[in-house]
Amino acid sequence: MPYVYLSVALDLPLPRSFDYRAPAGVTGVGERVIVPFGRQTLSGVVLAVSDVPPDFPKLKDIAEAPADLPALPADVMALCRFCADFYAAPLGMVLAAALPAALRQPRPWAGDGTHWHWQAVDADGLLARLSPRARKQRQLAELLRTPQAREAVRDVAGDALRWLGEWQASGDVVAVAPVRAGGVPRQVALPALNAAQAAAVTAVDAADGYAAFLLYGVTGSGKTEVYLRTIAARLARDEQVLVLVPEINLTPQLEARFRARFPDEAIVSLHSGLADGERTRNWLQAARGDARIVLGTRLAVFTPLPRLGLIVVDEEHDGSYRQQEGVRYSARDLAVWRARDRKLPVLLGSATPSIETWKNASEGRYTRLDLPVRAVAGAVAPTLELLPTGRIALQDGIHPLALERLRATLARCGQALVFINRRGYAPVLACNECGWVSNCKRCEARLVLHLGDRRLRCHHCGFECTIPAECPDCGNADLKPLGQGTQRIEDALAARFPDTPPLRIDRDNTRRKGSLEAMLAQVHDGRVRLLVGTQMLAKGHDFANLQLVVVLNADAGLFSVDFRAEERLFAQLLQVAGRAGRAGQPGQVLIQTRYPEHPFYAALLAGDYAAFADEQLATRRELLLPPCAAWLMIRAEAKRIETALAFLNALRGALAGQGVQAMTPIAATMSRKAGWERAQLLVTAPTRGPVVAAASHLAELLVAKPPKGVRWVIDVDPQDV
Ligand code: ADP
Ligand code: ZN
Ligand code: ZN
Repeated sequence: MPYVYLSVALDLPLPRSFDYRAPAGVTGVGERVIVPFGRQTLSGVVLAVSDVPPDFPKLKDIAEAPADLPALPADVMALCRFCADFYAAPLGMVLAAALPAALRQPRPWAGDGTHWHWQAVDADGLLARLSPRARKQRQLAELLRTPQAREAVRDVAGDALRWLGEWQASGDVVAVAPVRAGGVPRQVALPALNAAQAAAVTAVDAADGYAAFLLYGVTGSGKTEVYLRTIAARLARDEQVLVLVPEINLTPQLEARFRARFPDEAIVSLHSGLADGERTRNWLQAARGDARIVLGTRLAVFTPLPRLGLIVVDEEHDGSYRQQEGVRYSARDLAVWRARDRKLPVLLGSATPSIETWKNASEGRYTRLDLPVRAVAGAVAPTLELLPTGRIALQDGIHPLALERLRATLARCGQALVFINRRGYAPVLACNECGWVSNCKRCEARLVLHLGDRRLRCHHCGFECTIPAECPDCGNADLKPLGQGTQRIEDALAARFPDTPPLRIDRDNTRRKGSLEAMLAQVHDGRVRLLVGTQMLAKGHDFANLQLVVVLNADAGLFSVDFRAEERLFAQLLQVAGRAGRAGQPGQVLIQTRYPEHPFYAALLAGDYAAFADEQLATRRELLLPPCAAWLMIRAEAKRIETALAFLNALRGALAGQGVQAMTPIAATMSRKAGWERAQLLVTAPTRGPVVAAASHLAELLVAKPPKGVRWVIDVDPQDV
């Protein structure tokens, strides 16, 4: 039997590929293979096929070529390679991240035929060619006489999907898209675009080849409408569209809007909240070109899309585009790279663009498209107002004027939201007698008081315990909660507004699938008029009757060591503000602050993000901060801080002569987490090239000689410092 030799990328933290032997013809570049590796069996992706045996004596054969996945196309392989090179990550890990979980397992995907429709082109011809003894295959071929061979396909045999793949390749079988109701394309009423929207749509439609656009407009200015129009134009050319959205909880609403606009279109969503089977099916539909619209979170950026014509990145500034574990990549940046590579337009939308994107737009690399006004006739921007808290007695952490406005809003049957970005009852429990506070033993952090189930909880490492009956240090039985969390505000509001009981929405009470949707439904139908919530509520949810927003702890973002903190705070506050006053109702936003004179608030009240962003960019230029410099952060954790610092100092030495500046290693902002002491080494250069080279140099060193007792992460273009 003729053999070929495969170079295979495996999902291992090693920056190299592995060689295997396989019978000629069973697999090819970009296909999935299952291989023995030591005592394990692993799934991998074929990087290259050669007739020449590698110079390696104990070459093993692959275990299986499952053929359950169309070969990853060259452009996705190229995207993964770029991602691996840029972020100094092993290619095998990037490829694994690019695949849905079911296609990463070391066994063929059983699939579930229930959702596929297959039809034989010539069932008799196919049957005539099958061996009379191939009972299962014949049974399957019989089933394919009808267009809806569904449930039955799975029952035939585990191999059914593979045979179907082979028969599809030989032209005996075609996959039929699921039959949808209706038949005749339905007409959908479209709003007439305003001039700014029309100009934006025209600009994107006209793009021929790579072009990057920043669609800059406040919430409600009609960005989504622009996406929908440009998408329609691409569909009309039978192209596919990839739409990236930040969060899972955002997807259902947007998805509903997309389905309403394109009722006859195969739209699939891709995010980590889907069951494995569904995600794999959706992914395959996109990869085969059957689904023309893919709506997904960051992981969807790798989806194979043979007829891709446009990429949209909604809320491009959002932090969730950044993968922060395993392979650390920015899906937004990869989307732009992919658009350039595939020579197609990419549309980045935001009310508060990242300073990175702002810089690209101001230097002419991206075309800025502005939507300066709210799209709905009569809709006005909410008014922002500061409530200085310095000299006033707060009531349960709430300014008396805010309480008065809440009362007035509820009295005229409006909805109101109290926004506080801290879940739990109180951020810390303390003893007034001796000064004890509820610290986490494993982290440099406080244990948060949760009264609902009477626990103290660390939000960083997950540690939890019961509430002590008395102070562990002095025995004082009168321990006091300090500060406010969502639960405490909920209690306070419940006591004050018994006729309109508040609904709290935060991560603690929305973990169950469907619970957030159920709560939002109560808000939409007006059963709930008073809301307490965290940033979960700030994004994407349209509350038509929301008239007042009170923001309680905005100041927390003002004095951060992270140079991006103000940019994030601005985005968050504008986003919360954007919830108020959507459909013709005037909205009002009250922000409690102890620092009303802070220049940040002047910029916010002026509502001029452009001016703020220009100023941020100027500061970054002056101080040589990203994006006006390239950064690389090496993070290290050890049982003792000295070990982590010594490790980083050694790496710093290894960077001499690399054209980068390596700073003195320091303890991380949160210097202890889950029992590990943390330190970091910052490496900078004026441009990305040397930083990326330094990252891969360090990755090689570390893999060649793994350090003992130290965990490390190489973070190229770090998003938190
Ligand atoms: P954004 O995505 O910027 O928040 P949307 O596209 O969701 O804005 O638009 C906000 C609201 O205005 C939506 O209810 C939308 O249906 C409506 N809208 C958008 N464009 C128009 C238009 N040209 N005419 C009338 N209504 C519009
Ligand atoms: Zn005490
Ligand atoms: Zn902890």
